[in-house]
Amino acid sequence: MADALSRFLFEGAGVRGARVSLAGSVRAVVGAHPYPPAVVHVLRELAACATLLAGSLKFDGTLIVQLAGDGPVRLIVVECTTTLALRATAQWDEARVRALGDDATLRELSGGPESARLAITLDPRAEGAMTQGIVALEAGSVAQLFEHYLTSSEQIASKLALAQSGGEVAGVLLQRLPGSTAHDDAVWREACAALDAADMPALGLAATSDAGLAALFPGRDLRVFRPATPRAECSCSPARVEGALRIAGRGEIEAALAEQGRVEVVCEFCGRQYVFAPAEARALFAPQGKARVTRH
Ligand SMILES: [Zn+2]
Repeated sequence: MADALSRFLFEGAGVRGARVSLAGSVRAVVGAHPYPPAVVHVLRELAACATLLAGSLKFDGTLIVQLAGDGPVRLIVVECTTTLALRATAQWDEARVRALGDDATLRELSGGPESARLAITLDPRAEGAMTQGIVALEAGSVAQLFEHYLTSSEQIASKLALAQSGGEVAGVLLQRLPGSTAHDDAVWREACAALDAADMPALGLAATSDAGLAALFPGRDLRVFRPATPRAECSCSPARVEGALRIAGRGEIEAALAEQGRVEVVCEFCGRQYVFAPAEARALFAPQGKARVTRH
């Protein structure tokens, strides 16, 4: 499969859709850390959902899916920018996650609604305030969770199918536009039934080829829009790490230097290492223009 996201609609019916396939991108995202199999499984599905949602946003920014709580998995963050740069991270209790088995659902990994919260945040970088919606951790599958979230937050009936195979994930999302007619109802019911029945490889083909999509919805006239390409890309940078160290403060930096002889920062998303020698670390707190460190 290729990494691709595209929107489509049913001609003459109030039903629209989007399809996503993640291959190399999601391999890189989940390969950054030694996640247990069950965590990898949900990270792939959350990455597919984040991409589907980010691809439909009208502003320039980032969509953040965040799980936080005190269950076997304490934290999951999956981010997808509106240009489809993906990154993710997680924190988990190895023994508790292993005890659940490799097929554990996100609900089980999180400990359920009593112990965790799943939120979707929209961060329009340049303008406007961040907005956040809560996903009820009731359903078992990630697809059902997002289906319920979209149906309630956008007030549009939504149907989502996800499938995985060989480290790749594919997804197809259908949404019923408001003001539908009896014909639209029939198309909607038929399309939803097709999604219910679809699994790999049918879903993978539908997500990556127009013939595969046509085969999933036979007899329907579909218009498919130009695809975009999701990719694994982290927004960390030397400048951002330097900013974070300045916020941490001189005391923290001196403590790290005393202990390790240098300051080491590892990006929790992509695993990239940033190392500062004592002079470099101290230069961050020097008045501008006075001390400069040249790197060789
Ligand atoms: Zn990074």
